[in-house]
Amino acid sequence: MKNLLVLGERVNASVVTLEEGTIVIDTSVDEEGADAVHAAAGERGSVLYVVNTHEHDDHLAGNRLFTCPAISSAAARQQMVEASVAALPDLVFSHELELFLSQRVFLKHYGGHSPGSAVVFFPQGGLLFTGDLVFNGRVPYMGEADFHRWLAALTELEGWDASTVVPGHGPKGGKELLTRQRQWLEQYIEDVLNWTAQGLSFQEMLQQVLMRHQVVERWHPMLLRSFELILKEYN
Ligand SMILES: [Zn+2]
Repeated sequence: MKNLLVLGERVNASVVTLEEGTIVIDTSVDEEGADAVHAAAGERGSVLYVVNTHEHDDHLAGNRLFTCPAISSAAARQQMVEASVAALPDLVFSHELELFLSQRVFLKHYGGHSPGSAVVFFPQGGLLFTGDLVFNGRVPYMGEADFHRWLAALTELEGWDASTVVPGHGPKGGKELLTRQRQWLEQYIEDVLNWTAQGLSFQEMLQQVLMRHQVVERWHPMLLRSFELILKEYN
């Protein structure tokens, strides 16, 4: 797809080029990434909008560099206010938002990964940005998950006519990324519920997860939190 540029190894920041300018979707994790996405977007035309898929600060580093309006879900902005993020979005939407440019751009709020999680869709090119509703090739961050919402979002998105899916983290792909993420989460939830039924402690469950998946140590508390969230939602 020639009008799409995805920057990022750890976290994706993307530029979509339309006839009248560019749209930046997430603004990277650090100064270097922020400068790169700012420069790349500027080279391709005037930057029309920045979109923040959600409130997590590993997606917001370059917000302050852009003078155009920044858009997010209302819930994401609220979370950013509570986290004292300096460069806040200017425009918010509660459920859905459409931008009528040379191509229609459709944004929808779901929550699931985090309270503010939203997606950006370019129907004409079948281009879908999922934010952190999809992690490709790594364990997703589930420390604030609402699993019912997350699974409902992925199920709905699987029905959309997307040919390119850009996840929040990891390489872009096709619609299979949506299905894979949904199935991964379903299996994870099932495992946690089974282990609970077998009487495993959270520490024992953590060991079970680490036998199956690579997870950096600083994310172990996130896994413990995800067990709590699953038990709260499913018991
Ligand atoms: Zn996130």
